[in-house]
Amino acid sequence: MPLVTTTEMFKKAYEGGYAVGAFNVNNMEIVQGITEACQEQKAPVVLQVSKGARAYANHTYLVKMVEAAVKECPDIPIALHLDHGPDFETCKSCIDGGFTSVMIDCSSKPFDENVEITKKVVDYAHEHGVVVEAELGTLAGVEDDVKVSAEDSSYTRPEEVEEFVTRTGCDSLAIAIGTSHGAYKFTPDQCTRNENGILVPPPLRFDVLEEVSKRLPGFPIVLHGSSSVPQNFVDIINAHGGKMPDAIGIPEEELRKAATMSVCKINIDSDIRLAITATIREYFDEHPDHFDPRQYLKPARQAVKDMVAHKLIHVLGCNGKA
Ligand SMILES: [Zn+2]
Repeated sequence: MPLVTTTEMFKKAYEGGYAVGAFNVNNMEIVQGITEACQEQKAPVVLQVSKGARAYANHTYLVKMVEAAVKECPDIPIALHLDHGPDFETCKSCIDGGFTSVMIDCSSKPFDENVEITKKVVDYAHEHGVVVEAELGTLAGVEDDVKVSAEDSSYTRPEEVEEFVTRTGCDSLAIAIGTSHGAYKFTPDQCTRNENGILVPPPLRFDVLEEVSKRLPGFPIVLHGSSSVPQNFVDIINAHGGKMPDAIGIPEEELRKAATMSVCKINIDSDIRLAITATIREYFDEHPDHFDPRQYLKPARQAVKDMVAHKLIHVLGCNGKA
């Protein structure tokens, strides 16, 4: 099947009590690792491209790699989505350039300005058969080159969501309930420690999610910054010359719970980076004489595939839903 929008996959996810994975793509091995896992698990998927990915890999290369994945994985619906579109022009360029979904992120701007720019993107996108994700509330963490401190982040205000969705006509809404971008989602002093001394992050604000869902029945909600930063990857990285002390993510059981509620799309990027880096660091340590990139990119790609398959089955619950 050709590239699809997220409309149908979100409707089924909402009704079925699961979420679709949205994975960031930056190169061929990442595209292959993700889509091979989704094809094997019969899972719908959103492949998303950030402004940083376009700067790194070039728009045309990314679109053509995703088109290749569509051809190689004929049994699953795949959407191509712009992650964190910063302005109308970037969104327009992706809408004109073959994307089926875009995000306009004006969440750092005042409410009325966010409404105004989002509506402009929605009008243009809908004219071209493309859907739009918008955002209310501000996540902490690092996304591309934008860093938001925990103090400057803010939870979504449920009392604003109906007016925002009605005035903009957006198709899905990213909200802030305590997830965060990057591999250092919380500082140790924001966390508690369990009996084994392992950091436990503050829980997600499910009360905010429930209140939003009550005000927007049937409307798809999106969670950004939802990597879990698996400790086994962090340990491998640190054991092989890396330095990532206190890297911490969102516990998978919290994401699983969100997926059964109104959350239809869960964004995962950092876990892909960690899988690749852990695999390559270990490989270099064990094979100091190897120098063919295929030798270490092959297991790195396999690590992405295994990690994504785990998410599909145990976190998102979207396996078998294609
Ligand atoms: Zn994000």
